[in-house]
Amino acid sequence: MPDKTGHFGDFGGRFVPETLIYALDELAKEYARAKHDKKFIRDLNYYLAKIYLKREDLLHTGAHKINNTLAQVILAVRMGKKRLIAETGAGQHGVATATVAALFGLSCDIYMGQEDIHRQALNVMRMKLLGANVISVGTGTQTLKDAMTQALRDWVTNVRNTHYVIGTAAGPHPYPEMVRNFQSVIGKEARKQILKKEKRLPDYLVACVGGGSNAIGLFYPFFNDKNVKMIGVEAAGLGLASGKHSASLGAGASGVLHGSKSKILEDQFGQIKNAHSVAAGLDYPGVGPEHAYYQQIGRAKYVSITDQEALDGFKLLSLIEGIIPALESAHAIAYLKKARKTIKKNSLVIVCLSGRGDKDLHESY
Ligand SMILES: *Cc1c(COP(=O)(O)O)cnc(C)c1O
Repeated sequence: MPDKTGHFGDFGGRFVPETLIYALDELAKEYARAKHDKKFIRDLNYYLAKIYLKREDLLHTGAHKINNTLAQVILAVRMGKKRLIAETGAGQHGVATATVAALFGLSCDIYMGQEDIHRQALNVMRMKLLGANVISVGTGTQTLKDAMTQALRDWVTNVRNTHYVIGTAAGPHPYPEMVRNFQSVIGKEARKQILKKEKRLPDYLVACVGGGSNAIGLFYPFFNDKNVKMIGVEAAGLGLASGKHSASLGAGASGVLHGSKSKILEDQFGQIKNAHSVAAGLDYPGVGPEHAYYQQIGRAKYVSITDQEALDGFKLLSLIEGIIPALESAHAIAYLKKARKTIKKNSLVIVCLSGRGDKDLHESY
């Protein structure tokens, strides 16, 4: 312990302007009081849940998408396909597809809703710089669903020479299983890393869910670890009650969309409803079928976070860690803040930081 004036031997003390002395005295007094105060200790302890970020935002091209596109382009080359097509929402999958097309010298067309072209302009420039052709989709809500519909139409027409690189763990078989396996590198690495660092498995896995690829990639390698709780965070948009959201698992019903049966947002006539989220990558009225299954068997829990909560999460992580998350990933961050009271002391939590937020600065700032 230092002496009364804060010296450790020769060192320490207070070498500051006189004006700060009052504040320092005040702080010293408060700290002396709090040190033995049960409430202070409890408040402090609650922050001691250890939260690890699985940093997919550090991947080449800025999100987890490249895990999948790299594997799919190799398949395309093996099948003799000369052209790649893809849908994109936030533009991250478009950029990752354009990147691997450039790497392997394939031609590349990316379908993107007009609305997303506006809100993710930076990624449109990146795709073009990588030599891809970005095709604007003006139908429907001009977002991800419409882009995927157009990409499927293109594929039907050009299937002989074209491979469709689906960007998430959805679509017809074998995509959900295949993309899940390609993204499982996230969970396999996380499992190894946490065992090395903490010598035990995590208590919670948390990830945002659009189509569900980053989440299933994190969850799947822990499927048999029954004590590891899995939480998928969907976009509640303006609130579930408003009808303007993307929570297919939280508020949807069984149905078929884009080639597979899963939980989807549909009206009373079975027509697909418009989704909404401030995060372009979550703005989709369906979800990968494996999540619908995990929900049904109770293996994972699915919650939702509003646009406003996500924007707050975006700022929170930026402020406390200096890490700017993608607005999609910010949903997972925001959930942790919201649910902090339910997370026990000394819990280990792994959050998938699916991507970085440079693309969103203009929308969120
Ligand atoms: C595409 C994307 C998502 C949503 O897709 P999932 O398949 O649900 O993972 C989430 N975060 C980021 C950063 C994305 O680019």
